[in-house]
Amino acid sequence: MKLTNRKAKGLDVRLTTEQWELLSAQLKGLKERSPFYAKKFEGIDLDQVTTQEAFEALPFTEKADLREAYPMGLAAVPQEQIVRVHSSSGTTGTPVVIPYTAKDLEDWAIQFARCYEYAGLTPEDVVQITPGYGLWTAGAGFQAGCERLGAMALPMGPGNTDKQLQFMQDFGSTVLCATSSYALKLAEEIESRGIKDRIKLRKGIIGSERWGEKMRARIANELGVELYDIYGLTEVYGPGIGINCKADSAMHIWADYVYIEIVDPDTGELVPDGEPGEIVLTTLQKEGAPLIRFRTHDLSRIVPGPCECGSEHPRIDIITGRTDDMVKVKGCNIFPAQIEEVIAFTDGASSEYQVMIDHLEGKDQLTLFFETEATGEDKARVEENLAAIFKGKIGCMPIAKGVAIGELPRSEKKTRRIFDNRY
Ligand code: ZN
Repeated sequence: MKLTNRKAKGLDVRLTTEQWELLSAQLKGLKERSPFYAKKFEGIDLDQVTTQEAFEALPFTEKADLREAYPMGLAAVPQEQIVRVHSSSGTTGTPVVIPYTAKDLEDWAIQFARCYEYAGLTPEDVVQITPGYGLWTAGAGFQAGCERLGAMALPMGPGNTDKQLQFMQDFGSTVLCATSSYALKLAEEIESRGIKDRIKLRKGIIGSERWGEKMRARIANELGVELYDIYGLTEVYGPGIGINCKADSAMHIWADYVYIEIVDPDTGELVPDGEPGEIVLTTLQKEGAPLIRFRTHDLSRIVPGPCECGSEHPRIDIITGRTDDMVKVKGCNIFPAQIEEVIAFTDGASSEYQVMIDHLEGKDQLTLFFETEATGEDKARVEENLAAIFKGKIGCMPIAKGVAIGELPRSEKKTRRIFDNRY
C-alpha cells in the first residue's frame, strides 16, 4: 500500500525510523538463521523489505505455523545460545515452544520493569506474584521484572488461598499480580474473613484477560487498589510488552521491542487507526524466535493521538476478546465483551457470569447464568431485565438465570465463561 493510500485509508501508525533500524537488523540474514522463515518467506528477498508497503506485503505468521515447528523449529540461533524455553498453554494438540537467548530474557525483564514503573512501583514495594511458574511465561516474567526494578518479590504462584492471605498480611504486600478472577476471589476472601484492615495492598497488576468494567470496579473497591492491565503473550516474550499508565486505561506497547498492526480478522486487511480488529505483532529485537507479523487472535484497537502522560509508546485499548471466542447463536455473532456490557447495564447483576449454549429439540438455546444478591421476585425481575437488555443489544433472546454470589467458579488461570455444548 502506497503511503498516500494509507493516509486516505485512515492509517497513520507506521514503523518509525528507529523501528526500521531494529527491524532491518532482525530481518538481515533471517532466512539463513531460521529454517522456519526460509520456508515462510520462500521467494521473498528480505533485503528488499525497506518500505512500509513491502513490510505490509509480508505474509502473516500464524499460531498453527508455530505449532508445526515443535519442538525447536522456531529457533533462529544455534542451540548453545538458547538458555531457556517457554511454552504456551495450547488448549488443543501440540504446544507452541518459544526459545529464548540470554538477551531475550534480559529484554523481557527490561520491558517488565518498565511496566512496573508505569504503574508507579518502586524498590520499596512488596510484590505478591500469583500467576503460575514453569513452562508458562507468566510467573517468571512478573518475577524478573520485579527483581530488575529492585522491589521484593513474593513468588507465590497460584492457589493456596490461606497461605496467600497469610503472606499478604505478614509481609505487607503492597502489589498483587493476578488474573482478574483470582484477584476477585482474594478480594472476596478478604471481605468474608474480615481482615481488610490488615491488608496493605495499593496496586493490582492484572494479566491481559478481557474483563468487564463491573468486575474491575469490584476488585478495585473491595481490595482498595489502583488497577493496571498488563499485556503480552508467550509467543512474544510473555506478559510485560505493555501496560496502561496513570492517565488512561489504554495500554502503551513498548515501541522499541514490538510493532503493532490491527487487521480485519476475516480479510487480514489493515483497519483504520481507532477501528477494532485483530492485533498483529512483530518483534524488533528478538534473537531466539523473532516473530514477523504474528496474528495474536486478540481483539483491540489502536488508540490514536498522544497520551496525556507524555509517553510516546503507541497505545491499544483493553482487550475486548479473542477472534476465536466469538460464538454464533441463532444467527447472532456474540463476543464475551458484549455479554459483559449487558451485565454492566443490568441493575442487580454482579460481575460474574457463565454462558451455556445447547442444541435442544432442533433449536439453539443460550442460557446466561449470572450472580446476583437478589432473591425471589426481585431475582425474577433482574432476570427479566437482563434478558430484555441482551435481546436489545445483541439481537437474540437468552434464558437468564440468577444464582447466588460465589456460586459460579473462579479460577486461578483464565476463566472460561462460554461453554458451547452443541458440537
Ligand atoms: Zn500514557
